[in-house]
Amino acid sequence: SMEVEIISCLKDNYSYLVIDKGNNSACVVDPSESEPIIEVIEKKKVNLKFILNTHHHYDHVGGNEMLKKKFGAKIIGFKNDKNRIPFVDILLEDNEIWKNLNFEFKVFHIPGHTSGHICFYFYKDNIVFSGDTLFSLGCGRIFEGTYEQMYYSLNKFKELPKETKVYCGHEYTLQNSVFCATYDKDNDELNKKILEVKSKRDRNLPTIPSTIGEELACNIFLRAKNLKDFSKLRDLKDNF
Ligand code: ZN
Ligand code: FE
Repeated sequence: SMEVEIISCLKDNYSYLVIDKGNNSACVVDPSESEPIIEVIEKKKVNLKFILNTHHHYDHVGGNEMLKKKFGAKIIGFKNDKNRIPFVDILLEDNEIWKNLNFEFKVFHIPGHTSGHICFYFYKDNIVFSGDTLFSLGCGRIFEGTYEQMYYSLNKFKELPKETKVYCGHEYTLQNSVFCATYDKDNDELNKKILEVKSKRDRNLPTIPSTIGEELACNIFLRAKNLKDFSKLRDLKDNF
């Protein structure tokens, strides 16, 4: 079975070490920087085999070079981003199922934040790594895509089983909750979730993972009824 170790990086990034307890092999998702990852790898005595990148932004690939050099790990990214994922070795396509050792995931191309953004859905483990597309109680800024692309990318998450754990790229949940609370005040599930989020942040604990079920109930961007409502919310959030 897979264990996910949450590693804080930079100011508010999360990188994730996915460890196969059976054979101590590991993948890292979105290594922002190498040092904190190396520390956990050495502490846990695991063998880093693969580096998975959701998109090319520096705070998601900053550790690629050093981790590849030090551990001989292979770097995995989206085929359309082969020229901007540093040191990429293995190129993936939309909807591809990828298996190696006991790591097994499906790739979804989810453009909007960047044109080549993907997520990794470990369907056997009920885990999705959503990068900067779906955040807990929020969604990524639209840098390279259209509102429509982002809307359809978020819709792909809505189709995953509700119990799926969501591991995203940043600890933005508390800030995001203020926006949700402003425009969705009477949502009881949201208000309950906000109390949990505050309590975790008060103790300096991550609010991640969330679940698809919680996000469907509480995340105002997933609750948007249509593209027009979604676009309006994204604009409001950009100026919030
Ligand atoms: Zn990003
Ligand atoms: Fe980021």
